[in-house]
Amino acid sequence: MTATAGKTVRRAEPIALVLAWLALPALVYYVWICQTYHHGQLVLPSPGMLHQLPRPTLKSMVVIIGWVGYQAILQVLLPGRRALGLPLPDGGRLEYRLNGLLSLLVTIVLLTVLLIGTNTPAWVVGNLGPLLSTTNIVALGVTVFLLLRGRHEPGDSPGPIRRFWYGSELNPRIGRFDLKLFFEARPGLVGWVAIDVCLAARQQQEHVLSASMILVCAFQLAYVLDYFVHEEAVLSTYDIRHEKFGWMLCWGDLVWVPFLYTVQARYLADHDPGLGASALTAITVLNAAGYVVFRRSNLQKHTFRNNPQTPVWGEAPHFITTANGSLLLVSGWWRLARHINYLGDIAMSAAWCLLCGFDSPLPYLYIAYFVVLLVHRERRDNRICQAKYGADWTEYRARVPYRIIPGVY
Ligand code: NDP
Repeated sequence: MTATAGKTVRRAEPIALVLAWLALPALVYYVWICQTYHHGQLVLPSPGMLHQLPRPTLKSMVVIIGWVGYQAILQVLLPGRRALGLPLPDGGRLEYRLNGLLSLLVTIVLLTVLLIGTNTPAWVVGNLGPLLSTTNIVALGVTVFLLLRGRHEPGDSPGPIRRFWYGSELNPRIGRFDLKLFFEARPGLVGWVAIDVCLAARQQQEHVLSASMILVCAFQLAYVLDYFVHEEAVLSTYDIRHEKFGWMLCWGDLVWVPFLYTVQARYLADHDPGLGASALTAITVLNAAGYVVFRRSNLQKHTFRNNPQTPVWGEAPHFITTANGSLLLVSGWWRLARHINYLGDIAMSAAWCLLCGFDSPLPYLYIAYFVVLLVHRERRDNRICQAKYGADWTEYRARVPYRIIPGVY
């Protein structure tokens, strides 16, 4: 890219960010409207949809603020292992308290009590619209709070729009409470499970619990459970290592994850595609294969970064020692593609969508978005690593030429 073209792109970026700030919530509302008013079918967006936008209610505010507060209390009060993050640019390492698994289990017990003893599932499913609007407001409030803190770090994004979008602090904390780790995982990720469970319970109340619904809930619960079982591995991910905490992450974690990742369960609550045993088996195998690639590769990198002597696939690992001291693994999964972990995630998302059959394209919006997200994310990560590691990254790219799919891309 020439210097002039680079400047033009940088000047246009705030406009693109404002458009995305409007478009992303609009997409989540659009999906909600298709599900609520159009039987889960895609329809052409129309101005009339503006009148269908759900408003927050007093009860939805109490529920969402109570939910975020409840998850925060669990993070503060429950016992948890202490772990150190990877070294920061200044050489320091932050300490984290990892009690996500216990928080999830405690929350599952609470959900079970609510499912058995109250009408919570029906209320949640009937009030997803107000809950969505309230969560949007909460995400905005957290972002404004972060901006008002006014803490800046070296390499801060220039201009208020970029700062709003990307954030100013890499690791904003209130005392020892790490805001990014909390919002990354707790209210949204656990909220995803909670909404899935409510949708399944509602389906059971009104129809019959379908095999597709059982599997989608099981796969997604396993995904979230796995996240917390390997919570420490999160500390070496892109979000924790490089992404500052602004609206993009906060809104993504709070709104996008629980309200869009439930698109399959929401669809299945009212539609049983009636998939046969062979289709369900094939989908289960696809999900399991995706999981193996996703989990083993992420764990391999994490283990390597913490103990580079650990054998990889039974052999001493090959790696590149970069000029700044970081090591880049070139063995095992990381020999196959530079983001082989994304391939596993994409395979799992395909399995979740396929459980919905082919009567509506709506559930497939998820995999379409996910592929775009991960392709874009890989390119951003590539740029960051190229800038950070220079010639070492060029050598790494030569040794591992594929981005995500070995032999293809
Ligand atoms: P990675 O965990 O792959 O982290 C990328 C970072 O790892 C790089 O910036 C670099 O950081 C380091 N790195 C890259 N290559 C190597 C190597 N060969 N050896 C050692 N270190 C290396 O990316 P993400 O955080 O994006 O993804 C983590 C997982 O989360 C993935 O499986 C992804 O699919 C999933 N994910 C899921 C999402 C969802 O919504 N469900 C959303 C986003 C991600 P450095 O060298 O600076 O340490």
